[in-house]
Amino acid sequence: MPETDAPPPRPWPANRLGLDYRAEASRLGPPPKPIIDVHTHINGERAASVYAEVCDHFGVALTYSQSQREQALGVSRVLGDRVRFIAIPDYMAEDRGRAFRDGFLDNIRWFHGELGARVVKFWHAPRWYDLVDPDRDADLFAYDSEWRRKALDLAHELGMMVMTHIADPDTWFQIRYSDAAKYGLKAAQYDPFKRMLKVYPETPWIAAHMGGWPENLDFLDELLGEHPNLHLDTSATKWMVRELSRHDADRFASFMKRWRGRILFGSDIVTLDDHLEKSDEENKRFGAQQAATESEAFDLYASRYWALRAMFETDYEGESPIADPDLHMVDPEGHTPMDAPKLVGRSLDKELLKTLYHDACRDVVIRWEAKQGLPKPIL
Ligand SMILES: [Zn+2]
Repeated sequence: MPETDAPPPRPWPANRLGLDYRAEASRLGPPPKPIIDVHTHINGERAASVYAEVCDHFGVALTYSQSQREQALGVSRVLGDRVRFIAIPDYMAEDRGRAFRDGFLDNIRWFHGELGARVVKFWHAPRWYDLVDPDRDADLFAYDSEWRRKALDLAHELGMMVMTHIADPDTWFQIRYSDAAKYGLKAAQYDPFKRMLKVYPETPWIAAHMGGWPENLDFLDELLGEHPNLHLDTSATKWMVRELSRHDADRFASFMKRWRGRILFGSDIVTLDDHLEKSDEENKRFGAQQAATESEAFDLYASRYWALRAMFETDYEGESPIADPDLHMVDPEGHTPMDAPKLVGRSLDKELLKTLYHDACRDVVIRWEAKQGLPKPIL
């Protein structure tokens, strides 16, 4: 366990080990190149300033945020040049039928016009099948159904690249999606996605969360080999720590080397003003109960950067400071919801880290944005 001078606070899910994340950030030192986080969800002006402080500590210079539309201008005011936006639908809308059809097209145009977004998020996780009905929403249900295609066509027309979410962890397929008739098997999620990669071959795509299959590097080798316009991001920290730590050291290092430039750093940090205060659990939005004070919010966001940087840069080998409830979900007898998997530091070489943290995003996203008329950020 890393040393810490401060007395350990009570263990809680974002900091089971009582780490002082500010001290840990100085112990890591600056990253070999300023980090670009290609995958966050920054909401709330106060939460955005807490997040900015976390970024200062961990060397994160630019973030690509999937902010809710009504939060995005406020986030932009707080983070200025340090944020760029990814267009998303209004997932929380009461009228989801509209939000995912013409509402999504409207959001794409708005993020593109108001905030210069040149990336659209095309979320199609298996949970999608809880939100839409195969009969009522046949025009929306499949990855390449009518309204899904309209969103991709519009993005294409506006010169936007695509970030997508395809599959979820193997642990979820084992427990939550065991109804294969409803959700399909994990491998089947990829068929319509692969067709779409070919429909828009000039468009760079980023498949979030290591393409949805960090458990299976052989599958990713094949996927990346077949689709030169495809990239991955490392976002979803708990999932990445749990599964990427399991791979053999040489296998993981050779995978990262082979696909250098195709794998972009991302965290999936979600910030909300609700994280800064205690409030009635009932009224809280999704994920809002993860923190209840400003210092907890700091730790919540910092824990993700610490865990990812420790995994990529250091030789740390020990428990992750972040509780991973999937362990308990899969094995309720063997694990409590506060347990965490082993985090295995990979000590990737400096040149590889520079690409992962910075150059890959510069060469894929920033280059694409520049082609579409956006000024390059100063990093
Ligand atoms: Zn995300």
